[in-house]
Amino acid sequence: MLCELGTPLTNVHYVNSYRGNLYATAKSKQQIGLGALPINTEIAGLYHCGQSTAAHGVLGVMATGLMAASRISGMEMGELLVHGEAGKIRLHTPN
Ligand SMILES: Cc1cc2nc3c(=O)[nH]c(=O)nc-3n(C[C@H](O)[C@H](O)[C@H](O)COP(=O)(O)OP(=O)(O)OC[C@H]3O[C@@H](n4cnc5c(N)ncnc54)[C@H](O)[C@@H]3O)c2cc1C
Repeated sequence: MLCELGTPLTNVHYVNSYRGNLYATAKSKQQIGLGALPINTEIAGLYHCGQSTAAHGVLGVMATGLMAASRISGMEMGELLVHGEAGKIRLHTPN
């Protein structure tokens, strides 16, 4: 049998999360919802995605990655998720 143990210190060590939490930023009232990091930044061509933006968790970070990819490529999120004939997700290059 294999047993693994992780603590908040593990999270600090491996992913540099705030005080070892599960979801990156402290998620204070100022850091969630409209206060979360925006996808667009003040720097042209630089985008945020991941758990400190609109949503955390695996599904949330995938969605924010798609949001960033959509803004970079100019394509709709639904277009980016198209599967190729072999069932593989098709990769697109930025315009
Ligand atoms: C124990 C645990 C269980 C979880 N279980 C679930 C679950 O069951 N379901 C679910 O949906 N979500 C779960 N989550 C949450 C989910 O794992 C995260 O929300 C998601 O992985 C975040 O993805 P991310 O790409 O935004 O950040 P991360 O996956 O944290 O990636 C950030 C990366 O940035 C790197 N980094 C940090 N600082 C720097 C720096 N200064 N320079 C360069 N790189 C840096 C880190 O090393 C890391 O590789 C869990 C989290 C934990 C900790």
